[in-house]
Amino acid sequence: MMHGAPLDILRNIYGYPEFRGQQRAVIEHVIAGNNAFVLMPTGGGKSLCYQIPALCREGVGIVISPLIALMQDQVEALKLLGIRAGAINSAMPPNVISGVIAAMRNGAIDLVYVAPERLLTPDFLSLLSEIRIALFAIDEAHCVSQWGHDFRPHYTQLVALAERFPGVPRIALTATADTPTRTDIVERLRLADGRTFIAGFDRPNIRYHIVEKKNAKQELLEFIRKFHAGECGIVYCLSRAKVEEMAAWLREQGMNALPYHAGMESADRARHQDAFLKGESVIMVATIAFGMGIDKPDVRFVAHLHIPKNIEAYYQETGRAGRDGLPADAMMFYSAGDAATLRGFIEQSDAQDSQKRIEHHKLNALLGLCEASCCRRRIMLEYFGDAESNPCGNCDICLTPPETFDGTVAAQKAISCVYRTGQRFGVGQLVDVLHGKETERVLRFGHNHASTFGIGKEFGKPQWQSIYRQLVAQGLLKVDVAQHGGISITEHGLRFLKEKETLRLRKYTGKERTAREARTATPPAMLEQEADQQLFAALKMLRRELATQENLPPYVIFHDKTLRELVLRKPFSLDEMSGISGIGQAKLARYGEVFLKAIAEHQAATS
Ligand code: ADP
Ligand code: ZN
Repeated sequence: MMHGAPLDILRNIYGYPEFRGQQRAVIEHVIAGNNAFVLMPTGGGKSLCYQIPALCREGVGIVISPLIALMQDQVEALKLLGIRAGAINSAMPPNVISGVIAAMRNGAIDLVYVAPERLLTPDFLSLLSEIRIALFAIDEAHCVSQWGHDFRPHYTQLVALAERFPGVPRIALTATADTPTRTDIVERLRLADGRTFIAGFDRPNIRYHIVEKKNAKQELLEFIRKFHAGECGIVYCLSRAKVEEMAAWLREQGMNALPYHAGMESADRARHQDAFLKGESVIMVATIAFGMGIDKPDVRFVAHLHIPKNIEAYYQETGRAGRDGLPADAMMFYSAGDAATLRGFIEQSDAQDSQKRIEHHKLNALLGLCEASCCRRRIMLEYFGDAESNPCGNCDICLTPPETFDGTVAAQKAISCVYRTGQRFGVGQLVDVLHGKETERVLRFGHNHASTFGIGKEFGKPQWQSIYRQLVAQGLLKVDVAQHGGISITEHGLRFLKEKETLRLRKYTGKERTAREARTATPPAMLEQEADQQLFAALKMLRRELATQENLPPYVIFHDKTLRELVLRKPFSLDEMSGISGIGQAKLARYGEVFLKAIAEHQAATS
């Protein structure tokens, strides 16, 4: 336990001048011994919400996290701040574990990170009942819910904590959860008597782009070269094979790209993750197995070469960009084919039908986002239950609005054609019928006699394909995966036909927005003065040297944001330096002098 008020701890230990958003409210609530459920976007500052109460309350703070591979990094980062922390999990050597356990018994440790499997063993529970516990923090709390996107059965047993340790406050935290998942978390973790804190979900510094997949490889390469040369990013691919292929190809193009997926040797995986965390220009090409809990602040872009499972997963994955608050990009390439693949996965899984329905529904919402003709951010924020907001001005749709047209007649023709051919054919056949083509298949099914035969010659094939996609996205038609992509009409579609509603559709321009066009330059994160840029580069180099010596990721020493502030303020004394965000007492003592020296040398050389 450390003495001091939360604000003093924030300033002295972490070096931050003020609390952000709801942090103060959460912290006071938990210090007073209450339970809490905290929803904050990635990068919102959840960790402080349990770390500071753990420091203020008597006893050890127990942090439950599924992210074994990252625990050691978290612990090292805390130690640099002067916080007594440790981790217990299957990856730790036994002697280290016994050291941590001894420290827990002696009251010589403030925070202990532990995986749920370990926590729930009889030995560990009995250890806990013998010592004083400050709080339980349940990180990545969505793992407790089957409705969330990363269900972990062990998490459901965490309810035991409520029963065995009724006097100890519990705080559950997550970055993603829609309303049903939230309710489920509160119920399963018995948090109904606590308070729920929901922060705004917006990540205004992330610019969203969603484009059709045409020549994705080449476009991605251009996008990286043009906007993110020499920076860190994540590229998500759907399969292990694609990960390997894409990483190899990017390397051929001269990029520092590394693969990461669950099929790799665990030593290689760990090595690649480490290289990414410690690197300043590494591109991680990965399946979604990568990323949870990665708190690297300087990821400048996240690209998806396939569509994600649902909006929550998308928001979580893209949320890994720009945690430092500086401008970042999210770029998704999508195709109807990917959607069909994902539907196939859902169908083939051995989940219950009710569960499958939820997943299909969530995927539909995601497709709606892809085909949207209004602000992407607004759609996502509304999905998460944030109040209606204005168009953001920082997504591809806001920046270059797509052209729309009155698609009423086109939609009527498209839907009638589905009806007239018996609601079981895919887009290819439907378009042939609309075009009046006498193909073998058309003749075999007698579709040349359908009343919609040849009524759609005004649009080419790609136009009709786009119209069908949009009608599916808008819920007027649905694709039956079990029937090989056969399209049928929904109730909404029937109502549209009957009530002669009007409908606007996105115009097909022949060239759908590509990464190249969709992308306009993000506001520069660069420093203006050339001398400042040089100083920034020098400080980065110094940081890199220190990081290598100490075998730490550079950002654990100081964030880019802190370096920028050092450059702009050019402090000449430790005292002056201590006012800079991100420089607490321990870091000031440890690194202050060397950074002051570097700044002074640079000043002397340039004046
Ligand atoms: P989350 O766990 O919600 O994704 P973190 O707790 O990792 O986010 O915080 C994101 C970043 O913001 C971290 O680098 C953290 O040090 C920083 N941060 C948190 N709270 C504050 C604050 N009050 N002022 C400045 N920076 C903060
Ligand atoms: Zn927008």
